[in-house]
Amino acid sequence: MKFLKKIFSFLDKPQDDVLMLYVRCNHCKTVFGIRIDLRRDLNSTYGEGPAEFTLRKEAMDNKCYRLIIITMEFDSARKVLQQDIQGGTFVTVEEYQQYHASR
Ligand SMILES: [Zn+2]
Repeated sequence: MKFLKKIFSFLDKPQDDVLMLYVRCNHCKTVFGIRIDLRRDLNSTYGEGPAEFTLRKEAMDNKCYRLIIITMEFDSARKVLQQDIQGGTFVTVEEYQQYHASR
């Protein structure tokens, strides 16, 4: 797996492919951001299924430490096809900013 990842990063043009996700913990309602590196964090599906890449990300806030599991699917251009979350809710960047501005 490490070897394959090296090939993929070598093939990729140098660019800042970062996706920010904002989530709210379902338990303690903490809102926080998760940084996804689209070059390093995605796994190829090797042609299995409609998506080209998948991502499984585990995250937790710094208040209740409950696990939030994010699963996503991407096409070959690394655009999001589908996203799912367990233990939390996706929020917009505006909600994230409001949450932190009000604290
Ligand atoms: Zn929490």
